[in-house]
Amino acid sequence: KPIVLSGCQPSGQLTLGNYMGALKQWVSMQETHDCLYMIVDLHAITVRQDPAKLKEACLDGLALYLACGIDPTKSTLFLQSHVPEHAQLSWVLNCFTQMGELNRMTQFKDKSARNASNINVGLYSYPVLQAADILLYQANEVPVGEDQKQHLELTRDIATRFNNIYGDTFRIPEPYIPEFGARIMSLQEPDKKMSKSDTNPNNFIGLLEEPKKVAKKIKRAVTDSDEQARIYFDWAEKPGVTNLLTLLSLATGRTVDELVPAYEDKMYGHLKSDVADAVVALIEPLQQRYNELRADRAYLDKVMHQGAEKAQVRAAATLKATYEALGFIAKP
Ligand code: ATP
Ligand code: MG
Repeated sequence: KPIVLSGCQPSGQLTLGNYMGALKQWVSMQETHDCLYMIVDLHAITVRQDPAKLKEACLDGLALYLACGIDPTKSTLFLQSHVPEHAQLSWVLNCFTQMGELNRMTQFKDKSARNASNINVGLYSYPVLQAADILLYQANEVPVGEDQKQHLELTRDIATRFNNIYGDTFRIPEPYIPEFGARIMSLQEPDKKMSKSDTNPNNFIGLLEEPKKVAKKIKRAVTDSDEQARIYFDWAEKPGVTNLLTLLSLATGRTVDELVPAYEDKMYGHLKSDVADAVVALIEPLQQRYNELRADRAYLDKVMHQGAEKAQVRAAATLKATYEALGFIAKP
């Protein structure tokens, strides 16, 4: 089976964007792939986190993965910090990454522009840790949203460079980016992507938010001031409306072509209320399952423990091969 690896940061509550761009794919790949899914807590501290909240976010994330349908008997589900090999390989790969390459990363540029008071080295080398995450497990495919494409390309470059010098050590991974839903946009600023760490909570929909609040946020989403208020799919002309149509399509399983004609002489308000209903219908059962799982700490601990054990065996094998290739002496 092809190996799949992916993860989300516990940098806030998982959003509808994370669900559409990542989690939805993760669940369906379990049947056909050998899947490893992580909560990347090491990545989350590139932005300042409150320790108590970080802990909660990790447990929430784990329970949500499970609620969405990640099955720990099929997939390896773990916390990144439980497998120290991630940090170890990341150091090695730092020495095979050029500053010029990291300077070009748009996520670093965006995130450092938004948080000028804490532009730390970890934020800068974030893509190198991500490369380590992927290469440690010899992943074939990495299901991610559009925003991670550039990081995936860098991972491939680093791995190829290392292999060229030391012989085949890492498998070169392919990105798996869904054709539709890979880029859910912010509700208030539909020219930027929805992000869980956005400082304006009206920009995103958290998977755990109260349905009433979710509906309200959708009803307040920015559309445009087009006099005719026509509803059609066009990212350039109608980003807000197009984002809503995308959400409606993904939440109902119906294509945009099927949906649009029904709005021929309808108002934005109609569309918004349909989107709100569809999204609420999607998240309500998910929240129910989440609540049960989240209350069972012993079960979550068991999942974390077993996942980390399974992951570490595999990570350790790659790290060992890497150290040998580099010429490090194994501890006698
Ligand atoms: P942060 O703001 O802290 O970076 P995030 O919302 O960008 O949070 P990540 O943990 O960085 O979430 O990303 C987890 C996964 O979700 C990645 O595969 C990423 O590509 C995907 N993803 C993130 N935002 C979106 C989005 N708006 N649409 C589709 N996929 C997304
Ligand atoms: Mg992100």
